[in-house]
Amino acid sequence: MDMILISIGVNAVCFLVAAPILAPVLILKDMRQIESFVECIKKGQLGASLPVGRKAFGDVNNSDVNEFDRLRVSLNWMARQIALREERIQSQRDEAIEIRKKLEEAVIRDPLTNIYNRQYFRDQIAKALSNLFRYHRPFALALLDVDFFKRINDTHGHLTGDRVLVGLAHLLRSTVREGDTVARVGGEEFAVLLNDIRESDVGAFLDRVQTAIRAEVFTTDDGLAVPVTVSMGYVAAAIPAEITQDDLIRKADEALYFVKRNGRNGIMNWVELGGGAHEMCIA
Ligand code: GH3
Ligand code: MG
Ligand code: MG
Repeated sequence: MDMILISIGVNAVCFLVAAPILAPVLILKDMRQIESFVECIKKGQLGASLPVGRKAFGDVNNSDVNEFDRLRVSLNWMARQIALREERIQSQRDEAIEIRKKLEEAVIRDPLTNIYNRQYFRDQIAKALSNLFRYHRPFALALLDVDFFKRINDTHGHLTGDRVLVGLAHLLRSTVREGDTVARVGGEEFAVLLNDIRESDVGAFLDRVQTAIRAEVFTTDDGLAVPVTVSMGYVAAAIPAEITQDDLIRKADEALYFVKRNGRNGIMNWVELGGGAHEMCIA
């Protein structure tokens, strides 16, 4: 019994002597841990969390829970809130970027066929002209107009007409090269900008397009075949000369209307119209 009392006495004395020494050391350890946690949060490592004692998993206001554990629970909660807010902001930002991309696309695309529109096409001509002047990169501009399209609408209905336009747009898109531009520039009018092409190659290229269109089977909703042909006029630009965007469009248009007046379903180079001054040189 005496031994027990002595042992309790010794332990009590040890505790009274050691407690004032150990307490600051333990507090310092807790403080350092919290400090490094706060540093992690400051650096954006929002997944960080402080370990808490088991008692703190229940009611943190319980008097059994140590003050530091209570603080750690609060800090973990704050970090989680910051992480959740950060996730929300990020997802709103992603959504805004997505909407902006869609709007930017909508501004430059034709809603029916989803190929580029007239405005975008004009911008591409301006770029091609700048490349021609600065780097002597030749290009060609072709205008395509569906022959007797009104008749297709009148015979098979507007929806079939739309199907033909969509089909033609896809066909053109898949026929040209990656860097070329295809646009719908009017109701049943398309334009193609062929980059880095010599004038002597343009005719053969458009001939392939013409052949592909003739081979394509356009159909009505009921599967009835709709024969489609197009007329094309083009102008090639090489070696910088005094040409403007409007000049190019006007010349390609003149060539196109020559084809229209002469039976349709053909291809014409503006320089072959005769009478036209050859401001644009042959590459
Ligand atoms: P041409 O060979 O001389 O070019 O004759 P065309 O009948 O093709 O030309 P015209 O200008 O007489 O008719 C064009 C038609 O295109 C008239 C218009 O109703 C139709 N059209 C224009 N935009 C659309 C469209 O988005 N969808 C449909 N289905 N038709 C359209
Ligand atoms: Mg037309
Ligand atoms: Mg037409």
